[in-house]
Amino acid sequence: MGSVDIIAAIATAAERAAIGVVRVAGPDLKALARALLGKVPAARHAVLCDFLDENNEAIDRGIALYFPAPHSYTGQDMLELQAHGGSAVLKLLLRRCLSLGARLAEPGEFTQRAFLNDKLDLAQAESVADLIEASTGESAKSAMRSLQGAFSIEVNTLIKSLIELRMLVEAGIDFPEDDTGRLEEANSARKLRAIQAQLEKVMRAAHQGNILREGITVVLAGRPNVGKSSLLNRFVGEDVAIVTSVPGTTRDAIRQAIEVQGVPLHIVDTAGLRDTGDEVEKIGIARTWAAIEKADAVLLVIDSALSEPQEDRKILARLPNNLPRICVYNKIDLLAGEPRTEALDGEVRVYLSAKTGAGMDLLYSQLLNTVGWQPTGEGVFMARERHLSALGEAARHLSEALENRQHIEFFAEELRLAQDALSSITGEFTSDDLLGEIFSRFCIGK
Ligand code: GDP
Repeated sequence: MGSVDIIAAIATAAERAAIGVVRVAGPDLKALARALLGKVPAARHAVLCDFLDENNEAIDRGIALYFPAPHSYTGQDMLELQAHGGSAVLKLLLRRCLSLGARLAEPGEFTQRAFLNDKLDLAQAESVADLIEASTGESAKSAMRSLQGAFSIEVNTLIKSLIELRMLVEAGIDFPEDDTGRLEEANSARKLRAIQAQLEKVMRAAHQGNILREGITVVLAGRPNVGKSSLLNRFVGEDVAIVTSVPGTTRDAIRQAIEVQGVPLHIVDTAGLRDTGDEVEKIGIARTWAAIEKADAVLLVIDSALSEPQEDRKILARLPNNLPRICVYNKIDLLAGEPRTEALDGEVRVYLSAKTGAGMDLLYSQLLNTVGWQPTGEGVFMARERHLSALGEAARHLSEALENRQHIEFFAEELRLAQDALSSITGEFTSDDLLGEIFSRFCIGK
């Protein structure tokens, strides 16, 4: 169905490699295959072929795989040409496909066709890109679970329960004089609460998946010279930030991506916070506050050997209200202290030494805990911001419905809106604009 034109793209990375793949998809590829390969290869068999140019000379010799519709990734005819992975060879091969009537594929167009031909739903299609982009093993596993449909199954189960409830409620609208009305109201409220509980479970898992996808941005903040750069180096395991004993060295934010228990962390080291007349340093400090605004968590680094806690209090008081934070009491080696974690007046403290590394394990687990990561092991599926907001919207409509359950039309309408929000995740009624936006972020050839 749908797309009638033939698309082609180099599907492998641009670097020199042993093998490179050109992919072609379209409603009928037999003519193209005959011209390019001299024959139509047997379906789903690896066939050694010469890839021919317009003079019947071989551009390369490689493996051709032919997947006739509908049993292919896109649901259309597909050819995968495995050539030698040099950029000149692959470009010649691609150009030959274009001269035979194909056009260059847009980013994500193969997957978009798979979606349009019902090979994948939208959440699964998105997880294809997420799998490719996954930066840790855990992220890749969770993207794979979404691709296999774990997330979609949860969403579809919720939709099914909502449809059943809506049928019950709409029957009540059609036959209002029915004596069983009150009983049905109690019954539907109970059913709705069960759906809400299930939705909450899905939201928790989706939140975990979102942490794996986006990673957590953690800003190291504190006064100059408390050991922020040393802590960053500890995180990364090598010297990436300049560590000196002169206050005010880190004038620009330094970012590093690391992985802790499979969770991607983006650590940002910032300029030390203090009152200063130095104009350049002031810019650095303004950037620190800007980085804090965008962070998922802040580690306020404090020198345990230093007095003047009021300076650190001032910084703590200026942090955005709901921003998760940990006070890191650094340099415990100077006081011969033991690493430990403490919760005091709603404030979490970790005592450690960036210099010796003592207490880093406590910081890691406290940090993951603070941002809501629960190492569940199994069952986390990849979820995007778009999915979280759709789940949130569905939850809001369900609460509205429950509060207004005496007004049966209103109740029914809120249920319908909740269902629409859930359906947007799997892409049942999704606007072309949103689809375009989603697939344009894929790589070409996927
Ligand atoms: P920043 O200005 O907050 O980034 O601080 P730095 O990481 O540059 O460290 C300032 C000074 O404190 C350097 O001389 C570090 O070697 C020292 N320092 C950092 N962490 C520790 C620690 O855990 N123990 C000790 N004894 N010194 C540390």
